[in-house]
Amino acid sequence: MAETPAEQVKRRQRKVLEVRNLRVHYETPTGDVIAVAGIDFDLYDGETLGLVGESGSGKSTAAYGILKLVQPPGRIVDGDVTLDGDELVHMSDSNFRQIRWTKLALIPQGAMNSLNPTMRVHRQITDAIEAHEGKQDKETLRERVLELFRMVGLPQRVYNMFPHELSGGMKQRVCIAMGIALHPTVVIADESTSALDVVVQRVVAQTMLRVKQALGVSMIMIGHDMGLMAQMVDRIAVMYAGKLVEVAPVETIFDEPMHPYSQVLIESIPSLKERKPLKITEGITHDPRNPPPGCIFQLRCPYVMERCRSDAPPLRELLARHEVACHLYNDDGSLIEDATMEAAS
Ligand code: SF4
Repeated sequence: MAETPAEQVKRRQRKVLEVRNLRVHYETPTGDVIAVAGIDFDLYDGETLGLVGESGSGKSTAAYGILKLVQPPGRIVDGDVTLDGDELVHMSDSNFRQIRWTKLALIPQGAMNSLNPTMRVHRQITDAIEAHEGKQDKETLRERVLELFRMVGLPQRVYNMFPHELSGGMKQRVCIAMGIALHPTVVIADESTSALDVVVQRVVAQTMLRVKQALGVSMIMIGHDMGLMAQMVDRIAVMYAGKLVEVAPVETIFDEPMHPYSQVLIESIPSLKERKPLKITEGITHDPRNPPPGCIFQLRCPYVMERCRSDAPPLRELLARHEVACHLYNDDGSLIEDATMEAAS
């Protein structure tokens, strides 16, 4: 039976994933590189959240932290991740293996590296199904795989093919089929379209969204293409140097980005209608082993103030569902009185 609008609203208010103070470090001979510096966010039922930021901002590491796939020398040093009431970070590996794919699945970056080149496509999917659900008869499995193919727009002939016989877009669709094979609650898509050309990228991203809506799963979409994100997600979380600096509904953040870093990211989206100079952020990024006290963006921020060099701004909800980590704003979202003056000084 179809959901009533009231039921839909109630479902969309239910948190399926809660991330609290997640911290991931990479050990190096000269000290720990702080890849994820304590992030907090929620994902709601049926929502698509875009996690964006430049390369090295920690967005993929955050996803791997949630999925408990961080490999040495990386490690989760602190934090809690709760999925539908189950705490994941401290869960035993055997219990977590039951959750991976059935409740929490990854659509990885670079399909070629994640598919086994020696196995036919259908085996890669049926092995994952049988690993969680036990042995099943051949015909049932075949039907399930073909149904998945229909959902992601793959022709039947792919069933018996090897990964090297497929185009990049097809391989990525196989990865989407694998990701949804066990009807997970949350899917994390890690730059899943970035290795594809622009046209195929959009088609695959739209397939992902269509499948997500059909199954009603919640999704975290990781990427740096703000234009693509604008069309795909409900909310955007902007990450800079391991921290979340702004989280807001997609239309709000594109109309009115509040954090200086988000403003640069959005201004740098190319436009077909208007020729504009490439926006460049001045300054250098800090040493990730030794972040400065205060705001993480201070070395590149055109509005930096004295206070930014000593006090780290917390992520505050300044407008409805719009969180920002910046000292430029009062608690009600208005600019502080001396913001312009100090920015100019
Ligand atoms: Fe810039 Fe200060 Fe805001 Fe950081 S807190 S983004 S340095 S104005």
